[in-house]
Amino acid sequence: MKPPGSHRGLTWGIPLGLFLLLGLGVELLLQQYGLRQQHATQQRLLAHANEVRAVLLGELNATLHLATGMASYIQARDGKIDAQEIQPWLQGLFRHGRHIRNIGLAPDNRISFLYPILGNESVLGLYYPDIPSQWPSVQRVIASGKPGLDGPLPLIQGGQGLVYRIPVFLPGDQYWGIVSTVIDFDSLFGQAQGVARQREIAVELKRADNDRQAAVTHDHDRVTLTLPLTMTDSSWDLYAQDLQPEKALPLWLRPAGWAMALATSLLVGLALLSQQRQTALLTALNRSQSQFMQAFELAPQGMALIDTSGRFKVVNQTLCQLLQAPAEQLLQHTITGLCPDNEREQTLEHLAAIIQGSTRSWTQHLFDSQQQPIAVECSAALLGYMDDVEVCILHIHDARERQRLQRLQNEFTASVSHELRTPLTAIAGSLGLINGGALGEVPQAMRGMLEIAQGNSLRLQELINDLLDMDKLLAGKMRFEPRTQPLWPLLEQAIAHNQPYAEQHRVALQLLGPPTRLTVEIDEKRLGQVLANLLSNAAKFSPPGGVVQLTMQQQNDQVRVNVSDQGPGIADDFKPRLFSKFSQADATDTRQKGGTGLGLAISKELIERMDGKIGFDSIEGQGSTFWIELPISTAPPQSATP
Ligand code: ADP
Repeated sequence: MKPPGSHRGLTWGIPLGLFLLLGLGVELLLQQYGLRQQHATQQRLLAHANEVRAVLLGELNATLHLATGMASYIQARDGKIDAQEIQPWLQGLFRHGRHIRNIGLAPDNRISFLYPILGNESVLGLYYPDIPSQWPSVQRVIASGKPGLDGPLPLIQGGQGLVYRIPVFLPGDQYWGIVSTVIDFDSLFGQAQGVARQREIAVELKRADNDRQAAVTHDHDRVTLTLPLTMTDSSWDLYAQDLQPEKALPLWLRPAGWAMALATSLLVGLALLSQQRQTALLTALNRSQSQFMQAFELAPQGMALIDTSGRFKVVNQTLCQLLQAPAEQLLQHTITGLCPDNEREQTLEHLAAIIQGSTRSWTQHLFDSQQQPIAVECSAALLGYMDDVEVCILHIHDARERQRLQRLQNEFTASVSHELRTPLTAIAGSLGLINGGALGEVPQAMRGMLEIAQGNSLRLQELINDLLDMDKLLAGKMRFEPRTQPLWPLLEQAIAHNQPYAEQHRVALQLLGPPTRLTVEIDEKRLGQVLANLLSNAAKFSPPGGVVQLTMQQQNDQVRVNVSDQGPGIADDFKPRLFSKFSQADATDTRQKGGTGLGLAISKELIERMDGKIGFDSIEGQGSTFWIELPISTAPPQSATP
């Protein structure tokens, strides 16, 4: 078995691992989200920057094409250009180029034609080799034979300009001069910036040394895009920056993600813990179940689990041995199916009582496989559910040996009592005669001793009579002469007969009315014996000056007779033994109050033989009410046989 600590380690290790894993997942998702945001921003910036670049390139190209047109014109005219003719040309070209500051022709490198002249007067007549800021790039253009774009550079006439120069060669590679177009950089770039502003980006154009790739840089929360822009031989970098700050992750997203990871891990942890507890409980349950089944199987008493109909569900070895039948055979029976017909109803009553929740003990017979009845003592209690069926645990004890011993004991008691009764009657009679003075006056010195001897012989007689009564009852030899008769007169009689005894204890006996005509079928002598026992007990245990009340009431088809006293009541721990033989609440009762402890046991037997019931209600310290219930007879009263 694993030590419990390793389970606990695993229970918390898994959620911890899960927490870290989920946390990692949260971080990855956040990173992905950030990257996607960044990508979207870059894409937007790229699209807008391209738009601006297109504007720039478009404007430049349009202007440059105009200059190219002029170069072609010069070539077509073989370099011979007419000042009158060229002026409207230049004017026309100028009007088409939106950002052209001026357009000029420099045959043999001297700027001789210019449009517009207004504002550019200082340029007219300039000779390129004399302008050190421009001559190297003019030379480069001439040497390459290809047009070149220069700038932005400060213009002689003021402002910044981009200068596009086309070297014009006449047929035979004869150099003619330069056609130059000055583009107003501020105006051109102003237009581009206007577009950029609309798109919420900022742009800047810088000269670059060589061709470069587009690049993205991040500065804090701003993204800057560098876009290469190449025109003829010149390279620029268009820097574009998003004016909108890069969208940062919502602040709550990370804590929320981690909180969810934590909550999920805790839930998983709790689920694991509860599953572990459940498993532990289940294991403990299984263990105790198997221990129970082992104890059940090996019990030296017959044991069975039965359902509410009395069917055997599980039986142990001892029961199989007792009934001499294999378990499979017993499992096909109900307990009522194995008992004699006359006990079946009683058994069903006991079963019904268990089902209602009370534990029960009873004796009955069960047939073994040879159809021999075996006396058994059963006790049963509700156990719970087994496979969705309510079951009771039944304990079946072989009562034959105990009954045999009981029989022997009864026989012994009966024969001893018989043997003792005759001499005891003679002794008691003789002592009575002596004490009564029939043999002459008893000497004073002997009187006390003789009275004690007579009292004890009378008590012994009482005990012997009780023992013989009990023996007769148990052996079924007690004669009953039942007769239907009114009950009330019998109660009056009982009061009258027991009055002297009650008076000895200074207790009053009262019969409370009203008188009724209810009749019962009983043996009046035996009923008198029971009432005498109840009344004498009540008087005996009442305090001097107390009252014992005898009442009678009808309850459906029964009549109940109550004997209520103001005595000490019955202690709770004595209640279950009250009707057992020789039982007295206090062992000193015999000496103090007299009695044998047999009176109630005999009364119970007598009343049950007359189809009645006997019982009591008592709260310790608050008196007792002993009652008997007898079935009301509807037959006409019978007169006594003489
Ligand atoms: P006994 O002959 O000793 O009275 P019983 O069987 O009549 O024998 O009574 C048994 C015991 O029950 C008594 O010894 C006494 O302890 C108790 N008992 C019976 N009746 C009463 C009562 N009315 N009040 C208190 N205790 C009683």
